[in-house]
Amino acid sequence: MFDINYDRDQIIAWETDHESGTYGKQPIVLVRGEGAHIWDMNGTEYIDCIGGHGASNMGHAHPAVVKAVTEQAQRLFLAPNGFYNDVRAHLLAELVRVAPPGLERAFLCNSGTEAVEAALKFARLTTQRTKVISTMRGFHGRTMGALGTTWRKEYRKPFEPLLSDVSFVPYNKLERMEKAIDDETSAVIVEVVQGEGGVNPGTADYLLGVEALCQERGAMFIVDEVQTGFGRTGKLFASEHHGLRPDLMTVAKSIAGGIPMGATLIGERVGKIPGHVHGSTFGGSPLACAAALATIRTMEEDHLPERAAKLGARLVEGFRSIEAPVVREVRGLGLMVGIELRSRSGAYIAALAAQGVLVLPAGSTVLRFLPPLVIEEDDIETVIEKVGMVLAG
Ligand SMILES: *Cc1c(COP(=O)(O)O)cnc(C)c1O
Repeated sequence: MFDINYDRDQIIAWETDHESGTYGKQPIVLVRGEGAHIWDMNGTEYIDCIGGHGASNMGHAHPAVVKAVTEQAQRLFLAPNGFYNDVRAHLLAELVRVAPPGLERAFLCNSGTEAVEAALKFARLTTQRTKVISTMRGFHGRTMGALGTTWRKEYRKPFEPLLSDVSFVPYNKLERMEKAIDDETSAVIVEVVQGEGGVNPGTADYLLGVEALCQERGAMFIVDEVQTGFGRTGKLFASEHHGLRPDLMTVAKSIAGGIPMGATLIGERVGKIPGHVHGSTFGGSPLACAAALATIRTMEEDHLPERAAKLGARLVEGFRSIEAPVVREVRGLGLMVGIELRSRSGAYIAALAAQGVLVLPAGSTVLRFLPPLVIEEDDIETVIEKVGMVLAG
């Protein structure tokens, strides 16, 4: 079925010579996936704990997503946002139904960074203020606006000046946030569990405290659920763990079962958004909306968030039982799990790939595991075993 006409060296040469150069790459050519398994062109099978950086919660080639996309592709790819569309209308109603309470509208776009851009713009419109507060180790995307709220210096420095009025405060330190938010603050943006920054779960006291401070001082509370959303942490949205009520909530990654899509969900404290101030050509395409509808339905019917909670607990328990001096800490929420090492993670990531397990870094010393939520229990045990082997060295 998969007719591969190129040789491996040719593929690697083309990407090496003609890709922009922004990505460091492992020397593996991926060509096919099913569930939590992914294959390279030689037929070598891997357990995929990268999960499209959190975009593959549904697993590869999920039949419900494949069916929805195939049927919609034969009917209508695109319906301009100046018109109504059946599938888009249904998705908007579904998104609002499953979202945390108070989020009644949504702006549809195509990626996480775009969802953050829209949230920052809507916060500015509402408050008529320009200051934004983000957190140290926070990651919110790479376009110029969102990048202004992303912490890591390597990402930001080459592109400064960015958004000028952003300050970064330590995560999980409410007293520092309390000092930072004032009556010129437009928005505070936080993740419920910092992903890229090292898999750092926020505490309930902290997140609810930030929410209360925003309400008290008239700032918009933006919760970035691009990575934590759609079942990853054991609830459909991580905000549900703490009963958070964001003013703006950003989602993307797994929203449409792996098809590109993002959304900014909008709460009642956000003012009316006038026509023409924002927009997206591809945003809310019927194709992506059909995939998202299939995703939401499957997550509910197959109880994928509950599955993430159960398998995530087992993964953490298994990793904690590993006796290896290099392990500093194991932490996570649901199937978003990190192992912080006492040394750099690169060599371990390569060693795990050689053992048939693909994992991703978070910062320089954390191994991050974001397997599809459909991963089998056997595969979870295999991952624990291989990680134990590799870390024990
Ligand atoms: C991945 C990510 C983004 C950016 O999403 P893209 O689709 O890559 O633009 C933003 N915020 C968080 C928390 C993310 O994990």
